[in-house]
Amino acid sequence: MRMPAIFKRDKTFGQPVEWVTTLFMILFHIGAIAALFMFSWGALALAVLLWWIAGSLGIGMGYHRLLTHRGYKAPKWIEYVLTVCGTLALEGGPIAWVATHRLHHQNTDKEGDPHSPRDGGFWAHTGWIITGKAIHNKSQELLPYVPELRKSKFHVWISKWHWVPISVLGLILLVSLGWQYVMWGIFFRTVIGLHTTWLVNSATHMWGSRRFPTHDTSRNSFWVAMLTFGEGWHNNHHAHPQSPRHGLAWYEFDLNWYGIRALCLVHLAWDLKLPQRKLRAKNNDTISAQAFQAK
Ligand SMILES: [Zn+2]
Ligand SMILES: [Zn+2]
Repeated sequence: MRMPAIFKRDKTFGQPVEWVTTLFMILFHIGAIAALFMFSWGALALAVLLWWIAGSLGIGMGYHRLLTHRGYKAPKWIEYVLTVCGTLALEGGPIAWVATHRLHHQNTDKEGDPHSPRDGGFWAHTGWIITGKAIHNKSQELLPYVPELRKSKFHVWISKWHWVPISVLGLILLVSLGWQYVMWGIFFRTVIGLHTTWLVNSATHMWGSRRFPTHDTSRNSFWVAMLTFGEGWHNNHHAHPQSPRHGLAWYEFDLNWYGIRALCLVHLAWDLKLPQRKLRAKNNDTISAQAFQAK
């Protein structure tokens, strides 16, 4: 029997499965489907709130724009709060996440990129996480990418115990509100958060428009941006990796940026690393440097 092309081309299917991660993923997906049969508006509202806390405060503003790229400065306690929010997304601890993402920026779409769709769309989305040779299992190789986080006792500690906050949250929900809220607030919400984050690795390196002629396949995707609180403006991001603002035009919705601006207003964030030079947009639509500057 001939194998369909996707199985031949996609790197996922040539690698051994990493069973611990895979079984958790299967369990969470079953939980997410089961949640659909236990609907209530209250449970849905809780799921949306936790999606924003984990996805926007945690992954977008915390793990990505603060810890990985240091696009702005914030007090340590804010950094720690955002990091704990990030663990709620069940994407691992900050050390592995940040190192993997820095590796992606260093080797985008080349040898050594942990999740390039050149190795297959499914690989870029999920395969790189659930297979045995996945980069995040090679913790020793990742260490040189995170010298400053390894010096922080907090980040070393939370990276080891990254699964504790979501477990405690699940227990609190179970005791206070019951199983329905656990199914929506933990299982359904986490699975939505994982897939939307993964879309940044898969979809925004395959589909969308390119404002900047970067040496990679990064794209700007409106729908991925809507699902990831602004992370979908990925071509903008590869062109200006340190910028804490990814949606560079006013119409490019970027809730993570609005959150960082809100922190600035109350003096809990400063020293924004916004692009300084004039940037030329597609269709001769020039965005001036002032448009990027926080007022
Ligand atoms: Zn990328
Ligand atoms: Zn990045």
